[in-house]
Amino acid sequence: AGGAEQAPQVPRYVRVNTLKTHLDDVVDYFKRQQYVYQGKAGSMEEVSSLSGKKFYLDPHLPELLIFPPQMDFHDNQLYVAGHIILQDKASCLPAFLLNPLLGSHVIDACAAPGNKTSHLAAVMKNKGRIFALDRDAKRLATMSTMLMRAGATCYQLAHQDFLTTDPADPKYSQVRYILLDPSCSGSGMASQLPVENTLLPERLQALAGFQKKMLAHALSFPALQRLVYSTCSVYQEENEDVVWDVLQQREKEFRLVQALPSWSHRGSGTFAEAKFCLRASPKETLTNGFFVAVLERWHGGASEKS
Ligand code: SAM
Repeated sequence: AGGAEQAPQVPRYVRVNTLKTHLDDVVDYFKRQQYVYQGKAGSMEEVSSLSGKKFYLDPHLPELLIFPPQMDFHDNQLYVAGHIILQDKASCLPAFLLNPLLGSHVIDACAAPGNKTSHLAAVMKNKGRIFALDRDAKRLATMSTMLMRAGATCYQLAHQDFLTTDPADPKYSQVRYILLDPSCSGSGMASQLPVENTLLPERLQALAGFQKKMLAHALSFPALQRLVYSTCSVYQEENEDVVWDVLQQREKEFRLVQALPSWSHRGSGTFAEAKFCLRASPKETLTNGFFVAVLERWHGGASEKS
Protein backbone atom coordinates (compact mmCIF):
# COMPACT_ATOMS: atom_id res chain seq x y z
CA ALA A 1 0.00 0.00 0.00
CA GLY A 2 0.98 3.65 0.00
CA GLY A 3 1.54 3.49 -3.75
CA ALA A 4 5.27 2.98 -3.20
CA GLU A 5 5.54 -0.17 -5.26
CA GLN A 6 5.04 0.26 -8.95
CA ALA A 7 3.29 -2.66 -10.66
CA PRO A 8 5.42 -3.98 -13.53
CA GLN A 9 4.22 -3.13 -17.00
CA VAL A 10 2.24 -5.87 -18.63
CA PRO A 11 3.46 -6.97 -22.09
CA ARG A 12 1.30 -6.52 -25.17
CA TYR A 13 -0.32 -9.89 -25.85
CA VAL A 14 -1.59 -10.72 -29.32
CA ARG A 15 -3.94 -13.67 -29.78
CA VAL A 16 -3.79 -15.16 -33.26
CA ASN A 17 -7.35 -15.61 -34.47
CA THR A 18 -7.30 -19.12 -35.90
CA LEU A 19 -10.75 -18.59 -37.45
CA LYS A 20 -9.03 -16.36 -40.00
CA THR A 21 -5.34 -17.20 -40.09
CA HIS A 22 -2.54 -19.40 -38.73
CA LEU A 23 0.16 -18.78 -36.17
CA ASP A 24 2.93 -19.26 -38.76
CA ASP A 25 1.41 -16.72 -41.12
CA VAL A 26 1.18 -14.10 -38.39
CA VAL A 27 4.75 -14.77 -37.24
CA ASP A 28 5.95 -14.44 -40.87
CA TYR A 29 4.00 -11.22 -41.26
CA PHE A 30 5.71 -9.66 -38.25
CA LYS A 31 9.12 -10.90 -39.41
CA ARG A 32 8.54 -9.16 -42.73
CA GLN A 33 7.89 -5.98 -40.70
CA GLN A 34 11.40 -6.37 -39.17
CA TYR A 35 10.18 -7.83 -35.87
CA VAL A 36 12.52 -10.45 -34.45
CA TYR A 37 10.93 -13.75 -33.45
CA GLN A 38 12.52 -15.40 -30.41
CA GLY A 39 10.52 -18.64 -30.32
CA LYS A 40 8.75 -19.84 -27.18
CA ALA A 41 9.54 -17.81 -24.06
CA GLY A 42 11.50 -19.88 -21.54
CA SER A 43 11.04 -17.78 -18.40
CA MET A 44 9.32 -14.77 -16.87
CA GLU A 45 12.66 -12.94 -16.87
CA GLU A 46 12.89 -13.29 -20.64
CA VAL A 47 9.38 -11.91 -21.06
CA SER A 48 9.85 -9.02 -18.65
CA SER A 49 13.05 -7.92 -20.38
CA LEU A 50 11.45 -7.94 -23.83
CA SER A 51 12.30 -4.76 -25.75
CA GLY A 52 12.59 -3.22 -29.18
CA LYS A 53 11.01 -5.28 -31.95
CA LYS A 54 11.51 -8.68 -30.35
CA PHE A 55 8.58 -11.01 -29.73
CA TYR A 56 7.94 -14.44 -28.24
CA LEU A 57 5.45 -17.26 -28.40
CA ASP A 58 3.69 -17.70 -25.06
CA PRO A 59 4.70 -20.83 -23.10
CA HIS A 60 1.15 -21.61 -21.86
CA LEU A 61 -1.25 -20.65 -24.63
CA PRO A 62 -0.70 -22.12 -28.09
CA GLU A 63 -1.63 -19.13 -30.25
CA LEU A 64 -0.53 -16.19 -28.16
CA LEU A 65 2.35 -13.87 -29.07
CA ILE A 66 4.11 -11.56 -26.61
CA PHE A 67 5.46 -8.12 -27.54
CA PRO A 68 6.96 -5.33 -25.42
CA PRO A 69 4.41 -3.33 -23.37
CA GLN A 70 4.55 -0.14 -25.41
CA MET A 71 3.54 -1.80 -28.70
CA ASP A 72 0.23 -0.58 -30.05
CA PHE A 73 -1.31 -2.62 -32.85
CA HIS A 74 -4.74 -0.97 -33.01
CA ASP A 75 -3.90 0.43 -36.46
CA ASN A 76 -2.19 -2.73 -37.64
CA GLN A 77 -3.78 -4.28 -40.71
CA LEU A 78 -3.94 -7.72 -39.10
CA TYR A 79 -5.96 -6.24 -36.23
CA VAL A 80 -8.26 -4.31 -38.53
CA ALA A 81 -8.88 -7.48 -40.56
CA GLY A 82 -9.64 -9.55 -37.44
CA HIS A 83 -6.59 -11.78 -37.86
CA ILE A 84 -5.24 -10.84 -34.45
CA ILE A 85 -7.10 -10.02 -31.25
CA LEU A 86 -5.53 -7.71 -28.68
CA GLN A 87 -6.35 -9.58 -25.51
CA ASP A 88 -4.48 -9.85 -22.23
CA LYS A 89 -3.04 -13.29 -21.54
CA ALA A 90 -5.08 -13.80 -18.38
CA SER A 91 -8.28 -13.12 -20.27
CA CYS A 92 -7.34 -15.90 -22.74
CA LEU A 93 -7.32 -18.50 -19.97
CA PRO A 94 -11.08 -19.05 -19.50
CA ALA A 95 -11.91 -20.21 -23.06
CA PHE A 96 -8.68 -22.20 -23.26
CA LEU A 97 -9.47 -23.98 -19.99
CA LEU A 98 -13.14 -24.53 -20.77
CA ASN A 99 -11.92 -26.25 -23.94
CA PRO A 100 -15.34 -27.17 -25.37
CA LEU A 101 -15.44 -30.02 -27.86
CA LEU A 102 -16.12 -29.21 -31.51
CA GLY A 103 -19.87 -29.34 -32.10
CA SER A 104 -20.80 -28.80 -28.45
CA HIS A 105 -23.28 -26.33 -26.98
CA VAL A 106 -21.89 -23.61 -24.71
CA ILE A 107 -23.34 -20.70 -22.74
CA ASP A 108 -21.23 -17.57 -22.43
CA ALA A 109 -23.35 -16.05 -19.66
CA CYS A 110 -21.79 -12.55 -19.46
CA ALA A 111 -20.40 -12.28 -22.93
CA ALA A 112 -19.96 -8.64 -23.96
CA PRO A 113 -17.77 -7.18 -25.39
CA GLY A 114 -17.00 -10.66 -26.65
CA ASN A 115 -13.29 -11.40 -26.56
CA LYS A 116 -13.89 -14.69 -24.80
CA THR A 117 -16.80 -15.57 -27.09
CA SER A 118 -14.61 -15.12 -30.14
CA HIS A 119 -11.91 -17.20 -28.46
CA LEU A 120 -14.48 -19.94 -27.72
CA ALA A 121 -15.57 -19.90 -31.37
CA ALA A 122 -11.92 -20.34 -32.38
CA VAL A 123 -11.43 -23.25 -29.96
CA MET A 124 -14.60 -24.83 -31.41
CA LYS A 125 -13.54 -24.04 -35.00
CA ASN A 126 -16.99 -22.48 -35.43
CA LYS A 127 -18.59 -25.91 -34.97
CA GLY A 128 -21.37 -26.11 -32.40
CA ARG A 129 -23.36 -23.36 -30.74
CA ILE A 130 -22.52 -20.59 -28.31
CA PHE A 131 -25.43 -18.93 -26.53
CA ALA A 132 -23.85 -15.54 -25.82
CA LEU A 133 -25.86 -13.48 -23.33
CA ASP A 134 -25.46 -10.04 -21.89
CA ARG A 135 -27.86 -7.66 -20.21
CA ASP A 136 -26.20 -4.55 -21.65
CA ALA A 137 -27.54 -3.70 -25.11
CA LYS A 138 -24.79 -1.21 -25.95
CA ARG A 139 -22.03 -3.66 -25.16
CA LEU A 140 -23.82 -6.31 -27.21
CA ALA A 141 -23.87 -4.02 -30.23
CA THR A 142 -20.09 -3.55 -29.99
CA MET A 143 -19.75 -7.28 -29.60
CA SER A 144 -21.70 -8.03 -32.72
CA THR A 145 -19.28 -5.96 -34.84
CA MET A 146 -16.30 -7.55 -33.14
CA LEU A 147 -17.52 -11.12 -33.70
CA MET A 148 -18.21 -10.42 -37.34
CA ARG A 149 -14.71 -9.02 -37.80
CA ALA A 150 -13.29 -12.10 -36.06
CA GLY A 151 -15.16 -14.43 -38.43
CA ALA A 152 -17.10 -16.13 -35.63
CA THR A 153 -20.34 -17.69 -36.86
CA CYS A 154 -21.39 -20.34 -34.33
CA TYR A 155 -23.06 -17.99 -31.84
CA GLN A 156 -26.49 -16.63 -30.98
CA LEU A 157 -26.52 -13.28 -29.21
CA ALA A 158 -29.22 -12.64 -26.64
CA HIS A 159 -29.95 -9.41 -24.80
CA GLN A 160 -30.92 -11.12 -21.59
CA ASP A 161 -30.22 -11.28 -17.89
CA PHE A 162 -28.64 -14.69 -17.35
CA LEU A 163 -30.56 -15.06 -14.09
CA THR A 164 -33.82 -15.07 -16.07
CA THR A 165 -32.80 -18.00 -18.30
CA ASP A 166 -34.67 -21.22 -17.64
CA PRO A 167 -32.25 -24.15 -17.29
CA ALA A 168 -35.13 -26.48 -18.21
CA ASP A 169 -35.68 -24.72 -21.56
CA PRO A 170 -35.21 -27.40 -24.28
CA LYS A 171 -32.89 -25.08 -26.22
CA TYR A 172 -30.34 -25.44 -23.42
CA SER A 173 -30.76 -29.21 -23.07
CA GLN A 174 -27.39 -29.94 -24.67
CA VAL A 175 -25.40 -27.24 -22.92
CA ARG A 176 -22.35 -29.07 -21.55
CA TYR A 177 -20.14 -26.01 -20.99
CA ILE A 178 -20.63 -22.62 -19.35
CA LEU A 179 -18.23 -19.72 -19.27
CA LEU A 180 -19.15 -17.38 -16.42
CA ASP A 181 -17.23 -14.11 -16.42
CA PRO A 182 -19.54 -11.83 -14.41
CA SER A 183 -19.22 -8.15 -13.58
CA CYS A 184 -16.73 -7.65 -10.78
CA SER A 185 -14.81 -4.87 -9.05
CA GLY A 186 -12.32 -4.73 -11.95
CA SER A 187 -9.65 -4.35 -9.30
CA GLY A 188 -7.18 -6.52 -11.24
CA MET A 189 -7.01 -4.30 -14.30
CA ALA A 190 -3.47 -2.94 -14.58
CA SER A 191 -4.79 0.59 -14.96
CA GLN A 192 -6.48 0.35 -11.55
CA LEU A 193 -3.50 -0.87 -9.54
CA PRO A 194 -2.61 -0.47 -6.72
CA VAL A 195 -6.01 -1.08 -5.27
CA GLU A 196 -5.54 -2.01 -1.63
CA ASN A 197 -8.31 -0.82 0.65
CA THR A 198 -10.07 1.17 -2.03
CA LEU A 199 -13.34 -0.76 -2.33
CA LEU A 200 -16.11 -0.30 0.20
CA PRO A 201 -16.98 -3.50 2.06
CA GLU A 202 -20.68 -3.06 1.20
CA ARG A 203 -19.89 -2.82 -2.52
CA LEU A 204 -17.75 -5.94 -2.29
CA GLN A 205 -20.49 -7.83 -0.47
CA ALA A 206 -23.05 -6.80 -3.10
CA LEU A 207 -20.77 -7.96 -5.92
CA ALA A 208 -20.04 -11.25 -4.18
CA GLY A 209 -23.76 -11.84 -3.59
CA PHE A 210 -24.49 -11.29 -7.28
CA GLN A 211 -21.60 -13.53 -8.36
CA LYS A 212 -22.78 -16.35 -6.07
CA LYS A 213 -26.29 -16.12 -7.51
CA MET A 214 -24.90 -16.29 -11.05
CA LEU A 215 -22.70 -19.30 -10.25
CA ALA A 216 -25.49 -21.16 -8.47
CA HIS A 217 -27.79 -20.53 -11.43
CA ALA A 218 -25.17 -21.76 -13.90
CA LEU A 219 -24.71 -25.00 -11.97
CA SER A 220 -28.41 -25.76 -12.33
CA PHE A 221 -28.21 -26.41 -16.09
CA PRO A 222 -29.03 -30.11 -16.35
CA ALA A 223 -26.47 -31.26 -18.95
CA LEU A 224 -23.61 -29.08 -17.67
CA GLN A 225 -20.30 -30.95 -17.44
CA ARG A 226 -17.71 -28.22 -17.09
CA LEU A 227 -17.80 -24.58 -16.05
CA VAL A 228 -15.16 -21.88 -15.89
CA TYR A 229 -15.69 -19.03 -13.46
CA SER A 230 -13.45 -16.00 -13.93
CA THR A 231 -13.08 -12.42 -12.73
CA CYS A 232 -10.61 -9.59 -13.16
CA SER A 233 -10.77 -8.98 -9.42
CA VAL A 234 -8.00 -9.35 -6.87
CA TYR A 235 -10.38 -9.86 -3.94
CA GLN A 236 -10.84 -13.28 -2.39
CA GLU A 237 -14.47 -12.34 -1.64
CA GLU A 238 -15.24 -12.27 -5.39
CA ASN A 239 -13.09 -15.26 -6.22
CA GLU A 240 -12.25 -18.26 -4.01
CA ASP A 241 -15.02 -17.38 -1.52
CA VAL A 242 -17.70 -17.32 -4.24
CA VAL A 243 -16.62 -20.67 -5.62
CA TRP A 244 -16.34 -22.26 -2.20
CA ASP A 245 -19.67 -20.95 -0.96
CA VAL A 246 -21.61 -22.21 -3.99
CA LEU A 247 -19.69 -25.46 -4.27
CA GLN A 248 -20.52 -26.38 -0.71
CA GLN A 249 -24.18 -26.41 -1.65
CA ARG A 250 -23.49 -28.59 -4.71
CA GLU A 251 -20.58 -30.72 -3.54
CA LYS A 252 -22.31 -33.97 -4.42
CA GLU A 253 -22.63 -32.84 -8.07
CA PHE A 254 -19.61 -30.63 -8.80
CA ARG A 255 -15.96 -30.39 -7.81
CA LEU A 256 -13.07 -28.06 -8.46
CA VAL A 257 -10.43 -29.42 -10.82
CA GLN A 258 -6.80 -28.29 -11.13
CA ALA A 259 -6.76 -25.36 -13.53
CA LEU A 260 -3.55 -25.45 -15.60
CA PRO A 261 -1.25 -27.30 -13.17
CA SER A 262 1.88 -25.79 -14.77
CA TRP A 263 0.72 -22.29 -13.70
CA SER A 264 2.59 -21.26 -10.55
CA HIS A 265 0.36 -18.51 -9.10
CA ARG A 266 -2.47 -20.37 -7.35
CA GLY A 267 -5.67 -19.47 -5.55
CA SER A 268 -5.57 -18.78 -1.84
CA GLY A 269 -8.22 -19.22 0.78
CA THR A 270 -9.33 -21.03 3.82
CA PHE A 271 -9.97 -24.38 2.10
CA ALA A 272 -7.53 -26.92 0.67
CA GLU A 273 -8.85 -26.91 -2.89
CA ALA A 274 -8.32 -23.15 -3.23
CA LYS A 275 -5.02 -23.97 -4.89
CA PHE A 276 -6.90 -25.75 -7.67
CA CYS A 277 -7.90 -22.24 -8.77
CA LEU A 278 -5.43 -19.97 -10.47
CA ARG A 279 -4.60 -16.35 -10.07
CA ALA A 280 -2.79 -13.91 -12.30
CA SER A 281 -1.16 -10.57 -11.55
CA PRO A 282 1.26 -8.08 -13.12
CA LYS A 283 3.94 -8.99 -10.61
CA GLU A 284 3.69 -12.77 -10.64
CA THR A 285 2.49 -13.63 -14.14
CA LEU A 286 3.04 -10.41 -16.15
CA THR A 287 -0.68 -10.11 -16.88
CA ASN A 288 -3.61 -8.20 -15.50
CA GLY A 289 -4.95 -9.37 -12.15
CA PHE A 290 -7.30 -12.27 -12.76
CA PHE A 291 -8.87 -15.36 -11.20
CA VAL A 292 -10.01 -18.62 -12.80
CA ALA A 293 -11.76 -21.66 -11.34
CA VAL A 294 -12.69 -24.78 -13.31
CA LEU A 295 -15.61 -26.85 -12.02
CA GLU A 296 -16.65 -30.24 -13.32
CA ARG A 297 -19.57 -32.52 -12.67
CA TRP A 298 -18.58 -35.66 -10.82
CA HIS A 299 -18.73 -38.61 -13.18
CA GLY A 300 -22.02 -40.43 -12.97
CA GLY A 301 -23.81 -37.27 -11.74
CA ALA A 302 -27.59 -37.53 -11.66
CA SER A 303 -28.13 -35.15 -14.56
CA GLU A 304 -25.61 -36.67 -16.92
CA LYS A 305 -27.03 -37.33 -20.32
CA SER A 306 -27.27 -40.98 -21.22
N1 SAM B 1 -16.74 -12.00 -21.06
C1 SAM B 1 -16.58 -10.63 -21.58
C2 SAM B 1 -15.39 -10.60 -22.54
O1 SAM B 1 -14.51 -11.43 -22.42
O2 SAM B 1 -15.35 -9.73 -23.41
C3 SAM B 1 -16.46 -9.63 -20.46
C4 SAM B 1 -17.63 -9.68 -19.50
S1 SAM B 1 -17.68 -8.35 -18.35
C5 SAM B 1 -16.49 -8.82 -17.17
C6 SAM B 1 -19.18 -8.65 -17.52
C7 SAM B 1 -20.42 -8.51 -18.37
O3 SAM B 1 -21.50 -9.08 -17.64
C8 SAM B 1 -20.85 -7.09 -18.69
O4 SAM B 1 -20.91 -6.92 -20.08
C9 SAM B 1 -22.26 -6.98 -18.08
O5 SAM B 1 -23.15 -6.24 -18.89
C10 SAM B 1 -22.69 -8.42 -18.02
N2 SAM B 1 -23.70 -8.78 -17.01
C11 SAM B 1 -23.79 -8.36 -15.73
N3 SAM B 1 -24.84 -8.95 -15.12
C12 SAM B 1 -25.41 -9.77 -16.02
C13 SAM B 1 -26.52 -10.65 -15.98
N4 SAM B 1 -27.25 -10.79 -14.87
N5 SAM B 1 -26.83 -11.35 -17.10
C14 SAM B 1 -26.08 -11.20 -18.22
N6 SAM B 1 -25.03 -10.37 -18.33
C15 SAM B 1 -24.69 -9.66 -17.23
